[in-house]
Amino acid sequence: MIKPALPANEAERLAALQRYRILDTPREQEFEDLVTIARTICGTSMGAVTLIDSERQWFKSLQGLEGEQTPRDEAFCAHAILQPTHLTVVEDACQDERFRGNPSVTADPFIRFYAGAPLLSSDGYALGTLCVFDSNPGQLALGQAEALWALSRQVGLMLEMRGLRRRIDLHQGEHDWYEARLAEYYAQLEQQNVELSEQTRTDPLTGLPNRRALSAALAEAIERGADRPPAVAIVDIDHFKQVNDIHGHDEGDRVLVELAGVLRAHFAGRGMAARYGGEEFVILMPDTPLAQAELQCQYLREAVAHLPMGLPVTISIGLAVQHAGESAQETLRRADAALYQAKAQGRDRVVVAG
Ligand code: GH3
Ligand code: MG
Ligand code: MG
Repeated sequence: MIKPALPANEAERLAALQRYRILDTPREQEFEDLVTIARTICGTSMGAVTLIDSERQWFKSLQGLEGEQTPRDEAFCAHAILQPTHLTVVEDACQDERFRGNPSVTADPFIRFYAGAPLLSSDGYALGTLCVFDSNPGQLALGQAEALWALSRQVGLMLEMRGLRRRIDLHQGEHDWYEARLAEYYAQLEQQNVELSEQTRTDPLTGLPNRRALSAALAEAIERGADRPPAVAIVDIDHFKQVNDIHGHDEGDRVLVELAGVLRAHFAGRGMAARYGGEEFVILMPDTPLAQAELQCQYLREAVAHLPMGLPVTISIGLAVQHAGESAQETLRRADAALYQAKAQGRDRVVVAG
């Protein structure tokens, strides 16, 4: 037995083989089919697709016997790849000095006949073979040799296609990854938009709806309540400037926050309280008759006057019910005029607009 030599381009050949990433992959039906056809055409009991790694011969397909791999030194195919453009045909291994004494000749599976067609990479390196073999000596007719060559080219194409499919899967994976990131990014953006639009509708100090939100709600209440008009009250803290002047701006802020809490609790479920400006609030009471709205305002005024805030706080309120066909601004203006009267009459009171 003669050990196979290494091809002159062995390093490049191995690099080419690595690029296909085929070693140690599972068996695949497409390769099995080609080996079956090759065996049938050549009339042999065994056949294989082999790839010659640095130290071993690895089988992508093996038919007629069991096995994963054999040492390269004992591989028929390691000889076959030394002639990349030739079919290697061994009619009787016992008569061939390269294979006489080879363990697979002297022992199971007792190979006598062998024919191998090199598998060429797209850049021309012999990676392995498509081979057929048998335990009886044999010959290859011209047509069989041509068919074996043709089939080995098909195996080569299949190797190329596997590589292509792998690269496409890789790209698809990357594409999916980017799409997932993009979806995450959009979700974040949407969340930020929700927060932003919430911010544009909320007063940051008190957490109450702001003037913009109030205007929208008032317009909507007027539109919906054609025959049941809303009532609007403007609430203004009395002498609030003094609270700031005497107790400081922070204390003033605390009073605003506490009052906002009272307003929110008082009108929850039956209207909307909004911060309209500095120390002014507007209460929108949809579908509320004037007498009932006035009662609510009186109740609120008293509740504020009795709040245990550590300093005396009172409020004045101007109340108006929207007249038929009247604009929101006009109703607010009348409520403001009523508030002005409440201030003029001595504060800490509710005045209803005429
Ligand atoms: P009146 O009874 O006539 O309403 O007197 P007033 O002092 O409450 O009214 P004025 O309009 O003279 O003063 C309102 C004050 O409200 C002036 C301003 O410093 C204060 N103010 C407005 N916004 C804020 C705020 O966010 N925080 C604090 N601490 N004070 C505010
Ligand atoms: Mg004011
Ligand atoms: Mg005031």
